[in-house]
Amino acid sequence: MMSAPKRPQDRVLTAGPIFWECGSVDSVNGQPVTLKEFLELHDRDKFEWDSAGWETEHAWVEPVRQAGLNLATHKVFHHRGQEYLRPPFPFLQVGEALGDSGSTITYRVKAPVDVTYPRPLALKVIVCRSHDRPPGPDSTARRSTLQALSKLSGIQHPHVVVYVASFEDYCLSTRQIRQRRGRKQEISTLSTSQVIKKHIFGVVVYPPAHTNLQVFLEDFHDSQTGEDSTRKSDNTWMGAYLCSYFGCLTRAMLYLWNSGIGIQSSDINLRKILIDDYGLPVIGTIGLTRHFETPTEPAGRLTKYKTPYIPAETDESSMDHPDSLTLPGLVYSLGCTFFEMTSVLLGLPRDNPREWLGLHSHNAGLEEPHWFTYRSALAGGAKLEDYFQVLRARQSNTDKSVMPKLIEPVLKILPIIGEMLEVKPEKRPHLKDLYPSFRHLYDLPESPGRCESCEEEWLQSRPRQETDMSEERPKQTKV
Ligand SMILES: [Zn+2]
Repeated sequence: MMSAPKRPQDRVLTAGPIFWECGSVDSVNGQPVTLKEFLELHDRDKFEWDSAGWETEHAWVEPVRQAGLNLATHKVFHHRGQEYLRPPFPFLQVGEALGDSGSTITYRVKAPVDVTYPRPLALKVIVCRSHDRPPGPDSTARRSTLQALSKLSGIQHPHVVVYVASFEDYCLSTRQIRQRRGRKQEISTLSTSQVIKKHIFGVVVYPPAHTNLQVFLEDFHDSQTGEDSTRKSDNTWMGAYLCSYFGCLTRAMLYLWNSGIGIQSSDINLRKILIDDYGLPVIGTIGLTRHFETPTEPAGRLTKYKTPYIPAETDESSMDHPDSLTLPGLVYSLGCTFFEMTSVLLGLPRDNPREWLGLHSHNAGLEEPHWFTYRSALAGGAKLEDYFQVLRARQSNTDKSVMPKLIEPVLKILPIIGEMLEVKPEKRPHLKDLYPSFRHLYDLPESPGRCESCEEEWLQSRPRQETDMSEERPKQTKV
């Protein structure tokens, strides 16, 4: 599991934001760079695979080409009957695994020995389990994943992980052939896909996560209320950074939406929002694993898609075959995550809104964390506005868990969160209009300040007449 965030230290190498204390890990990998700098330096283009073990068979290579994926960055390994790679090989693992969720595992890695590359990376390994048969070169699951990878490789945003390279590894099973009733004729008609013993996808992205938003929220809460007095000093900067995430996540989601990558309910998730070594939010890979998930499995699979943030208008009977979110649906799901961030900022535990709404709802089963959804709680009569009153009452709370400087700016965003969680999709605000509602949250003491990229992106997206010149800092008045 990921390590809890440590106290940040000043970034020594260049002026600017601070970054997490990461031990000596990164110092051997060259100077750390933010994702924005990484994009500006075109650093991902410097990754070049070595020449060993490339699969050249047409059946394997052609789908890669057809998916529009760069054949130089996506390497298919062949082993000709030998053992397959043990992940994270050929990459070199650094520290503990970053995360594990069923069919995927994520590592913090360095480039393979034969590849010269200065940056630490994150490697996500997906074990391809297919419902009917192991996915081979021509399988639909493989083609869909290659297409998802191709889309991911086109994503370049300072708050979304950036694709650097990928690989596939498979090994053939000879034993499996012998087991097939031994009928010669049948064996000769088997396609390559039917004798694949193991098939994995590896996707390498920048930056490796330091933690995720769920852990960050819990850690911030502990630092406010915990007994550990050494954590008290983490309060201010963590709170200020957390405040800056609203605007940045809004912009990142809008970018992803416009990219056409196809965002599903399960993609909006506190664990999918990563926090990098600089304490900045970065959205993790989207859409890569779903092609290997088998939602028709009888036991327990449904819960996999049952995120608490599914939009009010979602038909739950279709939850095991989730469609991509609509834009208002995305706003709803994002609103739910913002709601939880807000309650943590006001000194309450992350699951407090869920517990409170569950308790005030007539709908049964909500106390089971697996089954809680905001839509059922709110449909069952729990009132968002009543919970907002609980949050507003934090103002007069003298408890040490409430940070006075945060109260006023954070309470200011309750109305917009209320609008994001409107039951009727047409009453929710448009994603592109949300950024200004969170802009004041960048201006708190110890905050990383207004995010240069998001601010610029937003200013450029505004129609000229709407720009209020007096509001801008001198540097940005040119727009
Ligand atoms: Zn930003």
